[in-house]
Amino acid sequence: TKFSDLGLAETLLRALDREGYETPTSIQAQSIPLLLQGRDLLGIAQTGTGKTASFALPILNRLLADRRRPAPFTARALVLAPTRELAAQIADSFRAYGQFMRPSVGVIVGGVSHRPQVDMLARGLDVLVATPGRLLDHIASGRFKPAAIEAFVLDEADHMLDLGFIVPIRQIVSKLPKQRQTLLFSATMPKEIAGLAQDMLNDPAQVSV
Ligand code: AMP
Repeated sequence: TKFSDLGLAETLLRALDREGYETPTSIQAQSIPLLLQGRDLLGIAQTGTGKTASFALPILNRLLADRRRPAPFTARALVLAPTRELAAQIADSFRAYGQFMRPSVGVIVGGVSHRPQVDMLARGLDVLVATPGRLLDHIASGRFKPAAIEAFVLDEADHMLDLGFIVPIRQIVSKLPKQRQTLLFSATMPKEIAGLAQDMLNDPAQVSV
């Protein structure tokens, strides 16, 4: 399989070429065509498999296909990650794959001051990458409105469970629009994550690598 067989826009293929990606990894080849069709996805994959591109590329493709400006205090895509470091890495991946389309990508994590985050949220974002606790603060204070989210990704769900994030994740999910595309990635499938997947995903395709 080649990247050009997967259905991605030329703007993204050019970025992949620039990044030196020659061939899709297994999870990319399996999941990207399904995600471009709008399917929900349960991905069983560890870090290092290329899972970030498997969700970032279809989200960027969706933004390219419909170039609406995000409204203030909203985002069109939301990715939840367990740690600040992972959130920053995911945002960098969106910027790299989106280098020829310049999406607005923001990161919301704990341990830093609120004010710059509120200013960023006020402008509206194409893609917001966040850790659950701080995002919930911004939702509670009305500084982030989840109602416009078209695509939602829960990354490293089993790691989220280990860190005690299942309750805040469920609170965030309860505020998302029902009509959305949802992706859940986890390296393992403990019963709490299987339950979350059951509640969050709508007829998901399942891919494991
Ligand atoms: P991830 O599993 O998403 O954390 O990706 C692991 C590493 O593989 C990252 O450094 C990516 O930039 C790189 N990568 C992902 N997909 C590809 C690919 N198709 N070709 C080359 N490198 C890739």
